[in-house]
Amino acid sequence: MEIRVEKAATLKELPDPNTLVFGKTFTDHMFLMNYDAGQGWHDGRIVPYGPLSLEPCAMVLHYAQEVFEGLKAYRDPQGGVRLFRPADNAERFQNSCQRLCIPPIPVEDFVEAVKALVRLEERWVPGVAGTSLYIRPFVFATDPSLGVHASHSYLFCIICCPVGAYYKEGLSPVKIYVEDEDVRAVRGGTGFTKCGGNYAASIRAGERAEEKGFSQVLWLDGVERKYIEEVGAMNVLFKVDGKVITPALNGSILPGVTRRSCLDLLRDWGCVVEERRITAQELFDAAKAGKLEEAWGSGTAAVISPIGTLAWEDQSVVINGGKIGDLSQKLYDTLTGIQWGVEPDPYGWSVKL
Ligand SMILES: *Cc1c(COP(=O)(O)O)cnc(C)c1O
Repeated sequence: MEIRVEKAATLKELPDPNTLVFGKTFTDHMFLMNYDAGQGWHDGRIVPYGPLSLEPCAMVLHYAQEVFEGLKAYRDPQGGVRLFRPADNAERFQNSCQRLCIPPIPVEDFVEAVKALVRLEERWVPGVAGTSLYIRPFVFATDPSLGVHASHSYLFCIICCPVGAYYKEGLSPVKIYVEDEDVRAVRGGTGFTKCGGNYAASIRAGERAEEKGFSQVLWLDGVERKYIEEVGAMNVLFKVDGKVITPALNGSILPGVTRRSCLDLLRDWGCVVEERRITAQELFDAAKAGKLEEAWGSGTAAVISPIGTLAWEDQSVVINGGKIGDLSQKLYDTLTGIQWGVEPDPYGWSVKL
């Protein structure tokens, strides 16, 4: 793939790495590539970051034919920059595209585009502990038409923003509410894809949970509303009676790169890991029997987010005394150690630029 580069005439002043807010400050450049029927993907280019121009009738604005990804670039102790399993994001992007009838982008082109942009934006990868450069690739339908069908033209775009340390004073467990009204996804739908539409459907439950004093919701399956699916926009794992259990990927759950990495590490450490259906009832029974030892969410943003309190209807349980458990902490330390290049990486997950 050829990438044309048009550099910004003036560069922005770098923000203070100690006070970065997620998703507010963007770097100097962005990657763009167009798709047109008959021509395929073409005109890959890096240009100054700035507004896009769209017809009001652009298909994405009406029918939400759009998918995205999220990954990070990390500054290692030698001053180099690393990505974490970027080909996994590229493959998931392809799967998301296929479900939404968007022409997929070859894995190598996706990774190359990310690398080219991050290389140009290297000075934006912060060096303060826990900080990173968040990378947001996304693609959307641009046909100027209100007809409901797959668009014939698309724009693929990558933008980046420096992000602060997620945990400034150690990992603090959060309060989670089991959502029994709204559902996030159903099998046969788009739950396994990273599409904006899934997020649109999830916002109301998140807002309500916050009003009730919780950080996020625990999603139940969309058919029987019995089985655990995810926590907020993270995958969810539990340690019950010495074993780690997590919902199996059933079509409505997002296959997280962090989830997969947790499971790989746990199996290597000799833990018993089960990917299967888990009812909310099973969890609350385990908690009451004193067997729900740890619970945590996994995702690129927080890596590991321990759950301290779980509430469902009129029941509420506190997990591990509301403190982070040893296994959650070990997963966090190992994963972040590999991501920042300070721990050995026998898996080849950490990719130097
Ligand atoms: C992105 C995402 C995750 C986590 O995936 P990672 O690859 O680990 O960042 C989990 N659930 C949902 C709904 C997501 O969108």
